[in-house]
Amino acid sequence: MATDTKDPIPPHKTFDTILVLDFGSQYSHLITRRLRELNVYSEMLPCTQKLAELGWTPKGVILSGGPYSVYWDDAPHVDQAVFELNVPILGICYGLQEIAWHFGKNVLAGEKREYGHANLKVERHGDGEVGGHVDKLFKGLEDDMEVWMSHGDKLSHLPEGFVTVATTANAPFAGMANKDKPLYGIQFHPEVTHTKRGKELLKNFAVDICQARTDWTMGKFVDQEIARIRALVGEKGQVIGAVSGGVDSTVAAKLMQEAIGERFHAVLVDNGVLRLNEAQQVKKTLTAGLGINLTVVDASERFLGRLKGVTDDPEKKRKIIGNTFIEVFQETAKEIAAKAAGTPNAGEIEWLLQGTLYPDVIESISFKGPSATIKTHHNVGGLLEGMHLKLIEPLRELFKDEVRELGTNLGIPEDLVWRHPFPGPGIAIRILGEVTPEQVRIAREADNIFIEEIKAAGLYRKISQAFAALLPVKAVGVMGDKRVHDQVIALRAVETSDFMTADWYPFDGEFLKRVSRRIVNEVNGVCRVVYDITSKPPGTIEME
Ligand code: GLN
Repeated sequence: MATDTKDPIPPHKTFDTILVLDFGSQYSHLITRRLRELNVYSEMLPCTQKLAELGWTPKGVILSGGPYSVYWDDAPHVDQAVFELNVPILGICYGLQEIAWHFGKNVLAGEKREYGHANLKVERHGDGEVGGHVDKLFKGLEDDMEVWMSHGDKLSHLPEGFVTVATTANAPFAGMANKDKPLYGIQFHPEVTHTKRGKELLKNFAVDICQARTDWTMGKFVDQEIARIRALVGEKGQVIGAVSGGVDSTVAAKLMQEAIGERFHAVLVDNGVLRLNEAQQVKKTLTAGLGINLTVVDASERFLGRLKGVTDDPEKKRKIIGNTFIEVFQETAKEIAAKAAGTPNAGEIEWLLQGTLYPDVIESISFKGPSATIKTHHNVGGLLEGMHLKLIEPLRELFKDEVRELGTNLGIPEDLVWRHPFPGPGIAIRILGEVTPEQVRIAREADNIFIEEIKAAGLYRKISQAFAALLPVKAVGVMGDKRVHDQVIALRAVETSDFMTADWYPFDGEFLKRVSRRIVNEVNGVCRVVYDITSKPPGTIEME
């Protein structure tokens, strides 16, 4: 990872932390998310983490699910020191099997795989000879619970020292607890929403059993993050960073401004393919609204000049825009550095702001993932090569919904906090075919009408991403009794929770009629409007 800097105030030193050790399940990160939704701070690390190298003590540990079988020769196993940590442990699915393996190797392949919903029966033991703590995991939950399963292996028998706390028809050891220590295992997945009261179960573990404080709030995070930024950059340090008007870069920029004021230099590059009036609007919000020290560079002519005549390969557009961006940003950075050098009490610009989020961090450390390569934003990767800057990533602990909450806390307008994602190459990749100033005008105006209508219909937050694209074809129409031969606009709107898969949005006919009428009437050069009804997969969200 590019951060070669020591973190002076890591959140796990400030907040009670539940450590999730990841065995590669596709749901591992959801455990961390659910805990944070409960205001309990949680971090995820790969299952291979050596506890002696951790440098801090978690309030509790959760062992995640995973695709392996514990009895395989090359199966991953947790550092056995975890059982000596003297903190509560909860094993989920593979994690349960891992605990059973540690206490007696009694795990084997089941005859039947169990995948999907299952009815769980909770077994309570009362305060009798095993002690009330074994009931704590299911405290307050019904005796019959709907849970979600995904496993093929099973426990042959209960390990020594454990009691059964839950069963299903198929899994006689769907839940177990140790008689002497706060050690629990469950075969189902409480982190997925299909397990109806899974979040309450996680709360029982984190808050009741581990006694973690529920103080992970964005308000508290802001204070700690500002202190961390100040400690990192020091009394005189200066930071530069690109902003786009998107929620991540704006929130990151606002945090920097709160922490170091004018010593943070935001740069907005107008590449000529932003949305209608976007550069002006972002400038207004960031400077007048949020007080951020912003330089806007109008480089539209340079970008559009280089895009001229590029008709064949969409990748070429992306490369031209990416490379030109790096060039313009570096030139601007030099100018800003030269000016800043004269400022009293300011040092050199040594830092580059990046809006990395926790999912990127998780992806880079995930047990199944490519071990240490973080997915670097194309532009930033290029910037780092040329500029010898250290990275500062104030959002690297946060999930997207936390960034939005933080944005609202920092007084960033709703409009911006909920803005749909917008690609780096902008509407250049929504203009299929050659990008010319005239095509940019058409695509922009059509897009603006579409988004205006979506907002007016109260659908903007329901839809994950929407835009108008300009198709490189002409169709015949009749306008004002005259035959016209004009271009075609394609509307695209999708709903998705993770942008990996997406469904097209089912607008009602009246809505589409209204948008189509407005675009044909108001945008010169368009005589037809079509609606894209391709899901992802097989389509992508953007068109190029
Ligand atoms: N591979 C193990 C099994 O099939 C664990 C599965 C899981 O953790 N989801 O039982």
